Amino acid sequence: MKWRGSRESDNVEDRRSVSGGKIAVGGGVIGIIILLLNVFGGENAKLITPVLEQMQGGQTQTEAAAPLSKEDEEMGHFVKSVLAKTEDTWGKIFTEHGMTYKNPKLVLFRGSVQTACGGASSASGPFYCPADQKVYMDLGFFEELKTKFGAKGGDFAIAYVIAHEIGHHIQTLLGTSAKMHQDQEGKSQAEANKLSVALELQADFYAGVWAHDNQQYLDEGDIEEALSAANAVGDDAIQSKMQGQIVPDSFTHGTSEQRMYWFKKGFKTGDIKQGTTFEEI
Ligand SMILES: [Zn+2]
Repeated sequence: MKWRGSRESDNVEDRRSVSGGKIAVGGGVIGIIILLLNVFGGENAKLITPVLEQMQGGQTQTEAAAPLSKEDEEMGHFVKSVLAKTEDTWGKIFTEHGMTYKNPKLVLFRGSVQTACGGASSASGPFYCPADQKVYMDLGFFEELKTKFGAKGGDFAIAYVIAHEIGHHIQTLLGTSAKMHQDQEGKSQAEANKLSVALELQADFYAGVWAHDNQQYLDEGDIEEALSAANAVGDDAIQSKMQGQIVPDSFTHGTSEQRMYWFKKGFKTGDIKQGTTFEEI
């Protein structure tokens, strides 16, 4: 992605070199399963954290304050540039539709973090907390995306994930998330999961809309990087890797094919009105 020299957002809170972050000791397999279940899980993070703490049996160790390496600094600039581009795009789109966009914050952390949705650790994967309207990310996740999920990696994989989380912020501002939670009440688990899939796929669609508006910054191969990340984190891909079988009723994020389809639809159309995932699942 061509991002160097472009505006950097002031809305990034970099907590990576803050001491006192707790990391799990021996999270091992359990940590990985939780990560897999919660990739891009957004609002589920709060449900998962208590489980994590239980599993760890309170065994945490305090991470020493580590200064940021040159690469860490570079990644910080990249994240700030991408966030700035989401602010520009969504600010413009909201204005076009007679609404006002409210910039979210993005928190970079390592180990664990406190949020208005509860405590979370790196094992939760990147997520958005509607209660404080902040995106939380441990950039170590992107190494896992490559090594554990077989994604290609690349800078645009990270940009896609940021844009997906910002998609959840859009859904919060538009009231879509609140409506979905209301609609889930009294439904069977399978029906509730379907609604969750629609919400996640719409966030992928919004990520595509954002990419559409930023085509001038794309390098060759960027869209493939995003699709590879979307492909790697489909529920079917994760389930077949972890369980050796696929149980569609338990999907909460959508299949690899669906995630790629909706990202591509957003990228092609650039029209927020076409993110009709709730009508199509
Ligand atoms: Zn999500």
